[in-house]
Amino acid sequence: MIEFHSVTKRFPDGTLAVDDFSLALPSHKTTVFVGTSGSGKTTLLRMINRMVDPTSGSIDIDGADIGTLEPVQLRRGIGYVMQNSGLLPHRRVVDNVATVPMLRGTPKRKAREEALVLLDTVGLDRSLANRYPNQLSGGQQQRVGVARGLAVNPNILLMDEPFGAVDPIVRAELQQELLRLQRELGKTVVFVTHDIDEAFLLGDRVVILRTGGKVAQVGTPAEILANPIDEFVATFVGADR
Ligand code: ADP
Repeated sequence: MIEFHSVTKRFPDGTLAVDDFSLALPSHKTTVFVGTSGSGKTTLLRMINRMVDPTSGSIDIDGADIGTLEPVQLRRGIGYVMQNSGLLPHRRVVDNVATVPMLRGTPKRKAREEALVLLDTVGLDRSLANRYPNQLSGGQQQRVGVARGLAVNPNILLMDEPFGAVDPIVRAELQQELLRLQRELGKTVVFVTHDIDEAFLLGDRVVILRTGGKVAQVGTPAEILANPIDEFVATFVGADR
């Protein structure tokens, strides 16, 4: 379980990105942070793997305050997938994934075998494994990005608008793929999007944010749709249509 305790993040330029945010995210479920641009979603996500540290407050994972852990050690248990897949352009697809177990000391041959299995897991055809990232479509690159995220064998997978840059048809395919993966793997997924339809499709729990990381409403998609807490949420989820 990931627990935010009164977490505030003020950037050095004075921007208050997250203001006194407290919430527990259940294990083995997908929690989606959704809100308009600038509502603090990415900042919240990046605090979970200490790419960003809170100004005040704390975050616990399974009861341990992550502020006391070395970031490198913490990230061994946390996969991170972002919008532009983050692939190394000069490495073949298989090696982009294999570098992750190799960093942990797995020999190259074994790491490549693991990488091929992960590419199967995310539904990428093995015939593409020896290509370079720019020889793949955007959707295929995102699959490789997800395989990389899974390569640390994480308990927690952080996903920041991972399907934001692909066309709607591929996006729908990738969403279905993530739902399938979740049924099979049951990771603790924290997913960031500005798209409420995506949030409702993927989220076991959805956290609707306003500017400043202020929680407007938390609930299952069904709960929020049936009972939007205020006009802001009603408008955001389209319940007033
Ligand atoms: P979202 O992911 O919802 O678009 P972000 O978490 O990226 O929101 O940003 C929240 C707020 O913090 C925004 O106002 C943004 O401009 C600001 N912000 C994000 N990163 C920084 C930074 N490194 N320095 C200053 N302000 C930042």
